[in-house]
Amino acid sequence: MSEQVPAPNAAAHAQTVEDFRANLSAVQQRILAAETQAGRPAGSVRLLPVSKTVPEERLRLAIAAGMDYLGENKVQEAARKAEELADIPGLKFSVIGHLQTNKAKYVARFAHEFQALDNLRQATALQRRLEIEDRTLDVFVQVNTSAEESKFGLEPAATAQFIKELPAFDRLRVQGLMTLAVFSSDTAKVRSCFVTLRELRDRLRDTAPEGIGLEELSMGMSGDFELAISEGATVVRVGQAIFGARALPDSHYWPGFAH
Ligand SMILES: *Cc1c(COP(=O)(O)O)cnc(C)c1O
Repeated sequence: MSEQVPAPNAAAHAQTVEDFRANLSAVQQRILAAETQAGRPAGSVRLLPVSKTVPEERLRLAIAAGMDYLGENKVQEAARKAEELADIPGLKFSVIGHLQTNKAKYVARFAHEFQALDNLRQATALQRRLEIEDRTLDVFVQVNTSAEESKFGLEPAATAQFIKELPAFDRLRVQGLMTLAVFSSDTAKVRSCFVTLRELRDRLRDTAPEGIGLEELSMGMSGDFELAISEGATVVRVGQAIFGARALPDSHYWPGFAH
C-alpha cells in the first residue's frame, strides 16, 4: 500500500472486523451526540458509509461488522463491487456521485439509491432503464449550495421547477435533497451551505407535487457531519472516518471542485 497523507477526521486504517466495528461505533456515537446536542431524537439520522476506493476484500470485513448499505461515487466501481459481493444477502448500494446519462443502465440494474439527480436527461434515461429492469430507485435531487465551487447540482433557484417535472418519472422515488458543502476551514461558510439546503427543502416541501417526498436532507461527510446534523441532516455520507484515509485526492471524485 502506498504512503497515505493522513486526512483530517480519518480513522486509523481498519484491517479487521473488530477495527471496523470500533470505527463504525465511534461514528455512531458521534452521530448520537450530535442528535442529542441538536435536540433531535436518537436515530433520526441515517449513516451511509461511503466505501469508494475500498477493495472488495476489505468491504467483506466492513459488512461483517454490520454495514449493509454502501455509498459509492463512481458508477463503474460500484457496479463491479455489487457484482463481486452479490452473494451477500440484503447488501444495498447508493450511488452518490455524478452520473453520465450513458451509464444510467448500470445504476438501474444494481443500485437502490441515487443521490446526484440534477437534470432531466438523467431522469429520462433512468426511467427508461428502470422500466426495462422492472425496478424502482430512491433518488435525491442534488443542489449546488456552494455557488461557483461545484460543477454539479441544480442552482437552488432552479430546484422548484425541476421537482415539478419529477412526477412524470414514476420509477424514481424522490426522497429529498442532497448537497456537498464548500471545502473550507471556515465553519460559517460550511454551515451556510447546509442552511441553504434545509431552507430550500422547507420551502419546497409545502408545494411539492403529490407523491414527491422531500423529507430527507443528505448532507455532511467525515469532516463536517456534526455541523450538518445540527442543521437538520437526515442522511450523512461518511467515508474516511470509518474506512481510513483515501490515497486518491478528492479532486478525482469531485472534478471542478476548488480546494
Ligand atoms: C467521498 C464522498 C463522501 C465521503 O467523504 P469522506 O470525507 O470520506 O467522509 C461524501 N459524499 C460524496 C459525494 C463523496 O464522493
